[in-house]
Amino acid sequence: MSAPNPPRRLNGNRLVRAEILAIGSELTCGSRLDTNSQWLSRELEALGWTVVRHTTLADELDAIVAEISAAPQRSDLLLITGGLGPTLDDLTRDALAQAFASPLERDPVSLQQIRDLFAARGRSMPESNLRQADRPRESESLFNSCGTAPGILMRIPRTDHAHPCLIAALPGVPAEMRVMFQEQVLPQLPASSARLVRGVLRSFGFGESEAEQRLGDLTARGRNPEVGITASEAVISLWVSSRSADAETAEQMFQRTAAEIRDRLGAAVYGDGDIELHEVLLQQLHDRRLQISVLEGTTTGGQIGMWFSADHRSSTVLEQAALLTDSDWNKADSTADNDPFADWKKQVVSSCDRIFSARSLGGILLSSGCCDQQQESGVMLRRGQIAVATPDLIRFVDVSMSGNLRIFRQRAARTAINLLRLHYSAPEWEVPGMVKLPR
Ligand code: ATP
Ligand code: MG
Repeated sequence: MSAPNPPRRLNGNRLVRAEILAIGSELTCGSRLDTNSQWLSRELEALGWTVVRHTTLADELDAIVAEISAAPQRSDLLLITGGLGPTLDDLTRDALAQAFASPLERDPVSLQQIRDLFAARGRSMPESNLRQADRPRESESLFNSCGTAPGILMRIPRTDHAHPCLIAALPGVPAEMRVMFQEQVLPQLPASSARLVRGVLRSFGFGESEAEQRLGDLTARGRNPEVGITASEAVISLWVSSRSADAETAEQMFQRTAAEIRDRLGAAVYGDGDIELHEVLLQQLHDRRLQISVLEGTTTGGQIGMWFSADHRSSTVLEQAALLTDSDWNKADSTADNDPFADWKKQVVSSCDRIFSARSLGGILLSSGCCDQQQESGVMLRRGQIAVATPDLIRFVDVSMSGNLRIFRQRAARTAINLLRLHYSAPEWEVPGMVKLPR
């Protein structure tokens, strides 16, 4: 067996590692999603804890005992949800008793509370509810202000640690679990955990590996602030988590790392938090009092128009959004030796000339029809082109991808939106593969 990771400590004595165990066969069989672990993790992370493990187990005693017994060697805090009900498949009490050889005893105060609750509801208490007042001898009850089952709190001494491991068992019902966490567990958590400031920067243009390469040492494991990278629909998100003993220092460290990321990724970073790329462009156009036109073939399939029209700014910014079929738009010729989009590009040039001479527009976003090309490897490559025209210039970029059509369209749509965004915010920024045609 490999040695367990030593608990990570800041300033010598801070407890930071936490794990969460969700119990319930309704979770493991897929009929219900474990939302408790997500909610608890967010709460803990905001308090400076690092949640290092989520486990979901069916209502099976041996597995639950094994998981609970192992936690104190790995972590400083274990939160358990579920399995505190009155029925025989609610096993959390028995598992805690068995894991720490602390026999179950009936808690008279909890018993009275449960009796009172039934009396207040004018119902007689079924015999099985007596079990809900049971807890291991070396434990405390956690009062449940909105249900019957009390929670259980245990402090498990650890020979090689100054602090015991704190274990709290909470009800499975999400609403009850949240209240008990806030009312009963929070005040018991060691105040020594570090402060956390967490945020996200959004970028577009680099792939995940290229972004990682540019960020270099910033993404090193164990660094503080920590920088994590995720990719979704061609947007690369940089998650920054900064920990310190006090909130102000954590915030300063966070800001320094965020500035460093902006420095290394340059204009590819378009915003932070939940902002979308098209919202940034809409704001730029809105601020400049400019209107644009959108002419989409199947490469973006209406995605640009859909994003824009869902935003209130589109009423002033969007002059026209049209979805063009192969009968309006020159078809992509997948058998062409060099450029399947050559005819379409000529059509774009003449359309833009016509539109710009007739109307006063800031820009035009266009996409071609798309085509599939079988590669020698057997992979089917979907190909399309986007074009972004401003009064001075037309930019063309190829978008090729195998796989899901929806993701292909979103990538293509964002590529177009991003080109116009860069035209305003970083005109010198080089987009790989971009062909520029002066107008
Ligand atoms: P209690 O002690 O409150 O009876 P319990 O988990 O034993 O908790 P259950 O009957 O198993 O009681 O679950 C109560 C409800 O809470 C069910 O609808 C269940 O699906 C839901 N639930 C249990 N665990 C979770 C979880 N981790 N995430 C979301 N919902 C959950
Ligand atoms: Mg249950």
